[in-house]
Amino acid sequence: MSNTPTIDRTSANSISFHKDILTTIGNTPLVRLNSVTSGLDPLVLAKVESFNPGGSVKDRIGWPIIEDAERDGRLRPGGTIVEATSGNTGVGLAIAAAIKGYRCIFVMPDKMSQEKILLLRAYGARVVVTPTAVEPEDPRSYYSVARRLVEETPNSILANQYYNPVNPQAHYDSTGPEIWEQTAGQITHLIAGMGTGGTITGTGRYLKEQNPHIQVVGVDPIGSILYELHRSGQYTMAEGYKVEGIGEDFLPGTTDMSVIDEIIQVNDRESLLMTRRLVREEGIFSGGSGGAVVMGALRYIHNQHLGPEAVVVIILPDSGSRYLSKVFDDDWMRENGFLDQVWSDIRAGDIQSKKDSGQIYTARAGDRLLDVVTLMKEHNISQLPVVNTEERLVGLVSEIDLLNHLLKTDHVHQADETIEGMLNTDVPVVGQNARLETLMSLIKDRPAVVIVNNEDRVKGILTKIDILDYLSSQLK
Ligand code: PMP
Repeated sequence: MSNTPTIDRTSANSISFHKDILTTIGNTPLVRLNSVTSGLDPLVLAKVESFNPGGSVKDRIGWPIIEDAERDGRLRPGGTIVEATSGNTGVGLAIAAAIKGYRCIFVMPDKMSQEKILLLRAYGARVVVTPTAVEPEDPRSYYSVARRLVEETPNSILANQYYNPVNPQAHYDSTGPEIWEQTAGQITHLIAGMGTGGTITGTGRYLKEQNPHIQVVGVDPIGSILYELHRSGQYTMAEGYKVEGIGEDFLPGTTDMSVIDEIIQVNDRESLLMTRRLVREEGIFSGGSGGAVVMGALRYIHNQHLGPEAVVVIILPDSGSRYLSKVFDDDWMRENGFLDQVWSDIRAGDIQSKKDSGQIYTARAGDRLLDVVTLMKEHNISQLPVVNTEERLVGLVSEIDLLNHLLKTDHVHQADETIEGMLNTDVPVVGQNARLETLMSLIKDRPAVVIVNNEDRVKGILTKIDILDYLSSQLK
C-alpha cells in the first residue's frame, strides 16, 4: 500500500511547476558532512529534511495521514484535525489542511519553543499548551487532552502520529526509496533519532528489504527510555532533557524495535554543541535533534571502527530556525550549563545578581557611627556605600575606617558621633556592564567596587570574595 502521493509535476509549454505546495514534499538532498567528520573514514551523508516546504521531516506524514482518513470516511469536508504534536507534525498536517480546507487543533507540551507555537498559529491552527511534567495517562498530558478534544469536536480525527501506521508507511514509501536511489543502493548504515519512531521504522524497514545487511541505528537522548528498552527490554523511569523531538517515556505503536539494530545514547550538551558546529562548520542549519543524531553517528562510527567502505546516511529532521531562542542563544545555553562561561563575557551585573541576597545596604553621611556598626554586624558586611538624599554615591565607609577613627585620641568619642568624617571618597565605580577585567584592575588594591546605574544611583557593591564566589560557582 502506498499512501504517499507521487510527485505530480505538470509542465505546459515548458513552464514547469508544482500543482500545489504538497507535491514539493520529499526528494530532499543528501549532503556530505566534511568538517565535523574529519578523521573518520566513512562517507557520511546527511539527509537534510529542512528542505521540505514546512521545514521538517514531518511534512512527509501530514498529507498521507489526512488522505487516509478521507479515504475511509472518518474525515469529511469541513472537518477538524486534532493532534498531540511537538510542532513539526503540526506543520505537516497544517499544510495539507490549508490546501484541503480543514481546521486544525494542536496540543503541545509547555517545554516546546515559543517559535513552534507561533509557527502553528501562523498556519491558522489553534494551539493548546499542556504541562510537560505529567505522566502520559494524566488527564492533563498532551496525549489525554488531544483525545478529549476529538471526543468533544464533531467531524474530527486524531491524526495519532504515535499509533497511526500511516506514519511509518509514509517513510517506507518516500524517505526509504529516496535514500536507496540517492546512494545507488550503496548505503550501509541508516542513523536517525526516534520520536514516534516513524522515520526510523519506515525508512529502515524499506532499506532492509532492499539489503538486509544495512544496519539501522537509533539515537536516544539520556533521560528517554528507548535505549534501555531496546538493550534489555526493561522499562526505566524517564527523566527530563532539553533536546526536542526525540526520546520518549513510552514505546510508541509506530516504533518497531525489530528494525533497529542498535541504539546510541547522547547527552544534551554534546547534542546541542554539535548542532552549533553543524551550522558554523558545514553551513547546515539544523535543530537540536539533528545535532544529537550527528553526535550519535560519530560515536557509532568510532566505536565500530567503520572504514572507508561504509556509507552512512543520517537524517537531520528539521531546521535551526525553530530554536533560535534556545540552542542558538548563548544566554539560554549558558543558563542551562551547556556553554562554558568565557571570562571576558562576565559582567559586574552577573556577579551582583548571583550574590546570596539581592538586598543593598547603604548609609548616609549623617548616620550615627553606632548605628552603622550595628548594621554592619547584623548583616555581616565590612563596608557600606554612603549615599546622599538622592541615593547617589558620596563615599564608602569600611570597618577599618571606623576602627581607625575610634582609636584616635585627639578628641573624646561620643555616642552620637556621625560617620561624616570617616568616609573614603576615593571609591572605584563601575556600571553593571563592566567586564571582569575592569573589575579586577580596580579592586586589586582596594576593598570594594561600587556598581552604579546610568543616574549614578548605587546598584550594588562587589568585594574580592564576591568575585571569588562567582568564579568558583562556575567550576564544574
Ligand atoms: N526531530 C524532531 C525535531 C522531530 O520533531 C521529530 C518528530 N517528533 C523527530 C526528530 C523524530 O521523528 P519520528 O517521530 O519520525 O521518530
